[in-house]
Amino acid sequence: MTKWVYDFAEGSRDMRELLGGKGANVAEMTRVLGPERVPAGFTITTEACVAYMRDGAEPGGMEAQVDEALARLEAGASKRLGEPSDPLLVSVRSGARESMPGMLDTVLNLGLNDESVQGLAERTGNERFAWDSYRRFVQMFGNVVRGIHEDRFEDAIDEAKQAKGVRHDTELDTDDLRALTERFKAIFREETGEEFPLEPREQLRQAIRAVFGSWTGERAVAYRRSENIPDDWGTAVNVQRMVFGNKGETSGSGVAFSRDFATGEPGLSGDFLINAQGEDVVSGARSTLDIAQLAEVLPDAHRELTEQVARLERHYRNMQDVEFTIEEGQLFFLQTRDAKRPPAASVRFACDAVDEGLLSVEEALMTFKAGDLEPLLHRQFDAAVPVSELARGVGASPGAAKGEIVFTARAAVEAAAEGRDVILVRPKTRPDDYAGMAAAKGILTREGGHGSHAALVARGKGWPCVIGVEQMRVDVENRRATFGETVLEEGTLIGIDGTTGIVTTDDVPLVEPEISEHFERVLVWCDEHRRLGVRANADVGEDARAAVQMGAEGIGLCRTEHTLLSDEHKPKVAAMIMATDDDERRERLAVLLPLQQEVFEDLFAAMGERPVTVRLLDPPLHEFLPDLAELSEEVGRLEERVEVAGIEVTDDAGDLEDELAELRRFLAKVNEIHEENPMLGTRGCRLGILYPEIYEMQVHALMRAVRRVRAGEGAAPHLEIMVPLVDYEQELRLIRELIVRVGDEHGLTAGEDYSIGTMIELPRACFVADRIAEHAEFFSFGTNDLTQTALGFSRDDVESKFVPVYMERRIIDRSPFETIDRPGVGWLVRLAAWVGRERRPDLKLGICGEHGGDPESIDFFHMAGLDYVSCSPFRIPIARVAAAQAAIAHADG
Ligand code: ADP
Ligand code: MG
Ligand code: MG
Repeated sequence: MTKWVYDFAEGSRDMRELLGGKGANVAEMTRVLGPERVPAGFTITTEACVAYMRDGAEPGGMEAQVDEALARLEAGASKRLGEPSDPLLVSVRSGARESMPGMLDTVLNLGLNDESVQGLAERTGNERFAWDSYRRFVQMFGNVVRGIHEDRFEDAIDEAKQAKGVRHDTELDTDDLRALTERFKAIFREETGEEFPLEPREQLRQAIRAVFGSWTGERAVAYRRSENIPDDWGTAVNVQRMVFGNKGETSGSGVAFSRDFATGEPGLSGDFLINAQGEDVVSGARSTLDIAQLAEVLPDAHRELTEQVARLERHYRNMQDVEFTIEEGQLFFLQTRDAKRPPAASVRFACDAVDEGLLSVEEALMTFKAGDLEPLLHRQFDAAVPVSELARGVGASPGAAKGEIVFTARAAVEAAAEGRDVILVRPKTRPDDYAGMAAAKGILTREGGHGSHAALVARGKGWPCVIGVEQMRVDVENRRATFGETVLEEGTLIGIDGTTGIVTTDDVPLVEPEISEHFERVLVWCDEHRRLGVRANADVGEDARAAVQMGAEGIGLCRTEHTLLSDEHKPKVAAMIMATDDDERRERLAVLLPLQQEVFEDLFAAMGERPVTVRLLDPPLHEFLPDLAELSEEVGRLEERVEVAGIEVTDDAGDLEDELAELRRFLAKVNEIHEENPMLGTRGCRLGILYPEIYEMQVHALMRAVRRVRAGEGAAPHLEIMVPLVDYEQELRLIRELIVRVGDEHGLTAGEDYSIGTMIELPRACFVADRIAEHAEFFSFGTNDLTQTALGFSRDDVESKFVPVYMERRIIDRSPFETIDRPGVGWLVRLAAWVGRERRPDLKLGICGEHGGDPESIDFFHMAGLDYVSCSPFRIPIARVAAAQAAIAHADG
């Protein structure tokens, strides 16, 4: 027979999957603090909820077990549920495996009815309290269990207060509350067409079902989506004897944190209310008092609270957040959990806990999530200032920014040149917008998902970015953005928060990030514990310097196309592509060489003796040429003009015809290299095989840069030349020969002055990694492309199209571009690492690509035995923390 119900005395903190977080912790508290400090009760398991959701009915045996547990509870309390003369009252509380604050609802004072309310009044000698409890019960039951809108009840309370001419609930007397309860029951009847259930066991049955049902409620589902909590966990239900904070001036309810909830500083914090039940504290119906004031009103309770909370913190070895009630001077604990806290408080607590001898360094480093520290690295909206939300999109790249709206990249560049702060607002961004994105303080787009152009570029550079603001219409032509009724013209002040996705027209003050003393200590500890190296993806010296500041130990990926794609240099590359013969191509390449060399020199100079991995040209050539559609249009327009001019002004027509001929040649070339699937076409090392002179030029530039920097600075980084998109070992062999030949010309030796390796980003390369390793000193997993090619997902397309539906339908629980798909893509990585090292034991293994900055993926890369991860400079501190956490988590595994 399945056990569906556990008494608090039977549970413990390790049982959170079965009992939910709240149930497991209430059980644990009962053991740690003693049964006199935690009201007794029992937990109906999450498994019962899952069964209920599946079958639409309580699983067999559950109700009988509830009856038995209830009988034990009644025996312990020497009262019976709803007994008319002296009722036992209970709360019915939900609680999933992970805390989902406010997402699932609670019913208090269950067991009251028209008779037992009298009994309660007589027993307690407090009639007002009894009726206050009853009206609350009818209200919560109506709202939570039967879904009646809370306004219906709140309006009735307001009417009662108005009729009496008072302002606070506490000023309503017994008669008012009695009348209000009748009114509530009438509302219940109007809304449900049923009488309010007076039979206590029936009340309990309905409340339990409602908690089960709330798991699939809209709010809970939305919260799970945003927090990646699986739908099939279910929630537990806790039934607990009530204790009363609303029994008068020596009673109250509150929440307390074992440290300052905002800063993490030592000392109890929190707030409370006298003569109130718990929901008053959270609902904001009355303004609360600071916990320090409890020392004045009820000093004994305050002392006891301070002591016991510290005890809980020692027991849980983490900062705690507790809910308590004081009933006539006696303190009861109703909940404890690890405190959710701002990142600054997290690092502060970690340091203090080590200093106080509460935790070891290893334990302290495990008290927070690496990704949660991210805001410490970016500007933020000042949390002390309330923000009114104009819209909310997807926070694509963290950090807050504000400035005047501009609608084009050019306007952004111009405004920035004048020293004005701007936010670039676009329907979506394209590679052409890069300069404008760089000039703006932040980027806001209507379209896009986490893998969109705007998101990738912004994250790589650490620029605040909000995308996917669907309710925003962007009218670039007329320079205005519309949010429903609100129309914002160019120049309007707007603020965005790339963490939360909030868009506002408030002039919110921004707070600068700082690597505090505490954060710095945490990072140093992380460096002592991690095994994975941490490098940065950086294309230019400026990014490399930022990366070193953030603690990068090298460059894991420098994309050589970066500078070539700028507006300034693109035509030069285009001219090279257009070359009619090899000689002309070489001539054109000679123009590009010094451009590349200059960038490499700056990059190397920034990196000292750290290793630098440079990837040879990767993108398909069409990226350097004008857009096919635009070009055809332009040719069409010019043809028309030539026709007209041909009749009237013959001289001019000559020039025009030349221009037309040139454009037609361009068009023919663009047509010639046009590919249906450029990402699967002529790119990566395939370019190097087809046009060896391009790679030759790049290698010359690299070798020259190494020699220059070595001569100038006395030292140069260890250069690692990386060949992209290798499928066949023969490809790598050919390009390796090319590199060695050029290196020799410069007197530089492979294996000594530089090494040669490859990007592993195609499934075939993973399967034949041993053959490839024959020609490679290192592998760097390009997990973006590997994910695209292994799954057959086009990153730029799928994230906004079917990925959300796949998450909805629970095919996947997050985008495989965000966190590595362990069983699929991860397996390919393990395979390649394994066979690659079998062939070459000292093969160096790294990963570059978005996953290199994702804590969960980093955990996997640690397990897979890679040597380093490489990520955007702004993710480096996060990667350092995640790598340390992986090492600690798997220390004995
Ligand atoms: P949430 O998950 O929304 O915090 P809880 O189940 O913790 O919901 O209940 C909210 C509040 O209701 C608690 O903080 C507490 O003040 C009050 N409460 C719950 N159970 C009891 C009880 N047995 N006795 C007194 N108050 C209770
Ligand atoms: Mg709670
Ligand atoms: Mg790639």
